[in-house]
Amino acid sequence: MFETSIAGSLPKPAWLAETNKLWPQWRAEGDALRQAKADATLLWIKAQEDAGLDIVCDGEQSRQHFVHGFLEQVEGIDFEHKVKMGIRDNRYDAMVPQVVSALRLKGRVHAFEAQLARAHTKKKLKFTLPGPMTIVDTVADRFYGSNAEGRVKMAFAFAELLNQEALALQADGVDIIQFDEPAFNVYMKDAADWGVQALERAAQGLTCTTAVHICYGYGIKANTDWKSTLGEEWRQYETVFPALAKSRIDQVSLECIHSHVPPDLMKLLAGKDVMVGVIDVASDVIETPEEVADTIGRALEFVPKERLFPCTNCGLAPMGRDVAWRKLQALAAGTKLAKERLTTA
Ligand SMILES: [Zn+2]
Repeated sequence: MFETSIAGSLPKPAWLAETNKLWPQWRAEGDALRQAKADATLLWIKAQEDAGLDIVCDGEQSRQHFVHGFLEQVEGIDFEHKVKMGIRDNRYDAMVPQVVSALRLKGRVHAFEAQLARAHTKKKLKFTLPGPMTIVDTVADRFYGSNAEGRVKMAFAFAELLNQEALALQADGVDIIQFDEPAFNVYMKDAADWGVQALERAAQGLTCTTAVHICYGYGIKANTDWKSTLGEEWRQYETVFPALAKSRIDQVSLECIHSHVPPDLMKLLAGKDVMVGVIDVASDVIETPEEVADTIGRALEFVPKERLFPCTNCGLAPMGRDVAWRKLQALAAGTKLAKERLTTA
């Protein structure tokens, strides 16, 4: 009960990449970079185990960014000529590569870090991939056509590639494959109309546990500014959760603590495992065990205890390393307290 995990990313050590950045530059190249990525992956697996988390992940130490890390292994994408594009409905600008021809995987994308992680932990291993709709929102298109139809076509083309890599990750021994779809919270109607279908295409044929993470973004200024415009009640999840409840995806990861998401929206996920965000990634203040346990308690009003998985609101990539480490401990400590409260209640 209450198996703990993080959404996915963790800060990169200063010797691996620039710190406190979403698109950090690597500190090394070639073999030295590969070794540094491996060292950072092992370090964070150890840290997650030491904190007492039940499900661990590679902390995304081997990718510069959660979307572009995948795209680097896709043929048909021009990384030489990046363009500035407003992403997440123009919430912020990013330099993105361009799709210029038919898409095909150059080979395995995450074999190195997935196999490394698998070889070094006996805990359940989760691995994250970007979802098709979020990829489409983080790349410029010069091939599929900029209309709505082109977007859908491109999303399904990426879904096929994601599926190839997901099946290979499953063969590597990954227990949970999670697709990250922050775009579902931005284009809610599209998410319900075709985003969930594209996601299911990406997860097709998987027999391991499948998950989707939908959040309000990393704790960067553009996101916290955006959140302040969303009003008293954040009802974005209301449109997409019913479609997800009907889907074949097993688990849904959502933002909860310090958000304005009405907790009763979790009811819309009946039949699914719910990864409840009990750790805020937009604040350096470390949650107390009581605060974490209280958040779990609120979620328990709408999610059966055997379906509740305490998690972080989003990735911890842009945070300080020490803060992230203490948040892992807070996640474990608060979950322990929530369990104690249940048994003594
Ligand atoms: Zn997130």
